Amino acid sequence: MSTSGTTGDGYRGRFAPSPTGPLHLGSLLAALAGYLDAKSHRGVWLLRIEDVDPYRSHAQAAESIPKDLERFGLYWDESIVQQSSRLDSYRQVLEQLDLRGLVYACTCSRKHLAEQGYAGERYPNQCRDKSRSRHQPHALRVITPGYVINVFDRLQGAYGVNLAREAGDFILYRRDQVYAYHLAVVVDDYDQRITHVVRGVDLLDSTPRHQYLQQTLRYPTPQYLHLPVILAPNGQKLSKQTGAASIAALDPTATLFYLLSLLGHVPPETLRGAPVDELLAWAVGVWDEKRLPQERGIQAFRNAE
Ligand SMILES: [Zn+2]
Repeated sequence: MSTSGTTGDGYRGRFAPSPTGPLHLGSLLAALAGYLDAKSHRGVWLLRIEDVDPYRSHAQAAESIPKDLERFGLYWDESIVQQSSRLDSYRQVLEQLDLRGLVYACTCSRKHLAEQGYAGERYPNQCRDKSRSRHQPHALRVITPGYVINVFDRLQGAYGVNLAREAGDFILYRRDQVYAYHLAVVVDDYDQRITHVVRGVDLLDSTPRHQYLQQTLRYPTPQYLHLPVILAPNGQKLSKQTGAASIAALDPTATLFYLLSLLGHVPPETLRGAPVDELLAWAVGVWDEKRLPQERGIQAFRNAE
């Protein structure tokens, strides 16, 4: 990995999309805010493709993401990191946790848990004390603590969760032999020496898990800023899963003008129609997290989709 070594404040941020489909307006908002936060701190802004899940990642999307960012003037520093090339690092960290007795095999299927009344992410820690049957298909879960993990977010404030009680031991390695997002993102942020994470508020729930892993692995915890997500006209979060439109067809300068306004940084009228680098330079100069909207969801105007 190359180091730039030219930054003032040591700030290292990243944009880390999953290539499950083309970038949409919501992912572009996170990229823009992360870029501006990094550049206003004279920091480095990295691009990481989170393609750890081969079943949900598409090579075509992974290829189009850098091109889309360039079209909007959002140039990243250093070389692009792809999670699919980092599996050895995840394996080593998982083995470390396993040797320390912090990981156990769970043979529960989703169906089995649903039959017992456990839906979604909540897991009742029921395989913790079972002897390991690593010959049948299993996931590996990390033992979570029974105290509250307190996260401090630059925008959302304090957020605490008792992981053992409210979320349960979570998966680091899936039954289908894929490293889990929670493990990969923590290892990547550490290896890339990330100091600041800017991402959508839909990931706030995951942050105590990340902080717990960081503490357990003796990694520093970055500063987090969880942005509001863009809502579709029906009130749902704009996402690839809900079929949000690709940004490929959008006009870069008009779209940046619009997204800056959504982020509480309305550009002066004289910048309407200005090239993207002028708009971004203005925004870097005035960027102030106190101007960001406090709500967790912001409604997109129909005409911007
Ligand atoms: Zn289990």
